[in-house]
Amino acid sequence: MKVTSAEIVISAVSKKQYPGDFLSEIALAGRSNVGKSSFINKMINRKSLARTSSKPGKTQTLNFYKINEQFYFVDVPGYGYAKVSKKEREAWGRMIEEYFMQRENLKAAVLVVDMRHEPTVDDQHMYEFLSYYEVPIVVIATKLDKIGKSKRAAHLKKIKQTLQLSNEDIVIPFSSETGEGKEEAWRVLQQFL
Ligand code: GDP
Repeated sequence: MKVTSAEIVISAVSKKQYPGDFLSEIALAGRSNVGKSSFINKMINRKSLARTSSKPGKTQTLNFYKINEQFYFVDVPGYGYAKVSKKEREAWGRMIEEYFMQRENLKAAVLVVDMRHEPTVDDQHMYEFLSYYEVPIVVIATKLDKIGKSKRAAHLKKIKQTLQLSNEDIVIPFSSETGEGKEEAWRVLQQFL
């Protein structure tokens, strides 16, 4: 996909603020610091449109990025940050539930995991949550550049096992450093648009 325009349209805290133009949406989820913003920025050829690492205490928002006037990437605030208070965690839960349960424009979710490590319990919960709401899921295993070529297959296998993926589920190895996986990611995501 050739990205010719990308702009943030709204940082929403509630349903009332979601865009009303009925364009398709692809949501992006992942634990804090996994490389989600870097993934978005790489996909849209921007250095820093998507903000990196939302720290606890900051307002947690769903960020809607309009791409090519055609669809949205919806950046879901990262999870699994140990220092987040119970209140913040609950607010996060309510916000994502409100979005994933009811959003008709939502076509697919990208779950970004760290290819170096086994998915965390939070990753597993996010995967189960998305499956429960019957959102098609594409797993992006990022930071591919940090793993030696001979070890890549074993890491992918571990990710599939831990998330209990079936053979039809899609996992794309990706690197925001080198751009590996970008074409495949677009090819797959375009099918949902
Ligand atoms: P977010 O909190 O999930 O949005 O994570 P960021 O995109 O801010 O990335 C967290 C850190 O990981 C930053 O220091 C990035 O430079 C680094 N990072 C992200 N993706 C990659 C990648 O594919 N390869 C490498 N080597 N580093 C990455």
